Amino acid sequence: MKLKKREAAALRIRESFPHLTCPVCQEKLAVNETSLICANRHQFDIAKNGSLHLLKKSVKTNYTKELFQARRYLMDEVGFFYPVTDQIVQLVQNEQGLKILDAGCGEGTHLSYILRKCEGNDFTGIGMDLAKDGIQTAASHDESALWITADLAKAPVENDSIDIVLNILSPANYREFSRLLTKRGRVIKVVPRTGYLKELRQHYFDEEYTNEETTAAFYDQFDVVDKITVQHTQQLDHAAIAALVRMTPLSWRADQDKVQSFLDKKMAEMTIDVDILIGVKKVELEVSE
Ligand SMILES: [Zn+2]
Repeated sequence: MKLKKREAAALRIRESFPHLTCPVCQEKLAVNETSLICANRHQFDIAKNGSLHLLKKSVKTNYTKELFQARRYLMDEVGFFYPVTDQIVQLVQNEQGLKILDAGCGEGTHLSYILRKCEGNDFTGIGMDLAKDGIQTAASHDESALWITADLAKAPVENDSIDIVLNILSPANYREFSRLLTKRGRVIKVVPRTGYLKELRQHYFDEEYTNEETTAAFYDQFDVVDKITVQHTQQLDHAAIAALVRMTPLSWRADQDKVQSFLDKKMAEMTIDVDILIGVKKVELEVSE
């Protein structure tokens, strides 16, 4: 008999990831039927779709359901980001039983893809995001991971329980990442380079992006054991262009006439240009923000 999503999630937490903690008091959470409960009786019900809401208060973000659906379409159906996620798959595909946390997973496309490509590897995937709409979109498409709405600055996860923290084009909290990682754990961070979405950026702003600050902060916090640059340009059709414009926060601060003139295009070339940084904990970690 196929388990309902809620029961399946409870079983997955019990058997594969009993490391969740209470967002209120930080005590360990235990599974009780289809709820999680801490020693101080704070209780969190698993939603019907199997997702969890481990936040003290809901937070409104600019990231809407429409944005996440557009992202899902572009990343997954169009495959715009596969050149990057395929590289990440190569980094982990020869290992077994990894516990992978996607910190800032949004609608979950990247984590789902990696888990799908590594199906026989017995990975446990945990996708976390502050945006509830992202987690809901993820949970409705994919039951292979645990999807949790949570604050990544205070992740509801025990120390030393994660083998891989993924952080893909998303803000980071390195102090938390270090706390979560096992001794031999790794952070895999994707940062945009100058050419990332350059065609759209030039159309909107005529400006260049630099990742110097983001990259420097990463090198400060971690020993970088590897760096992979991915550069790839592809043709987007009209539907993919519309999805790109809808999903990127670049459109929020662009002139609306320019947004419209880009939306009107039938075809456009679009470039992915990113660095994948792989870091391990420094032996003597200096904690600083
Ligand atoms: Zn509690």
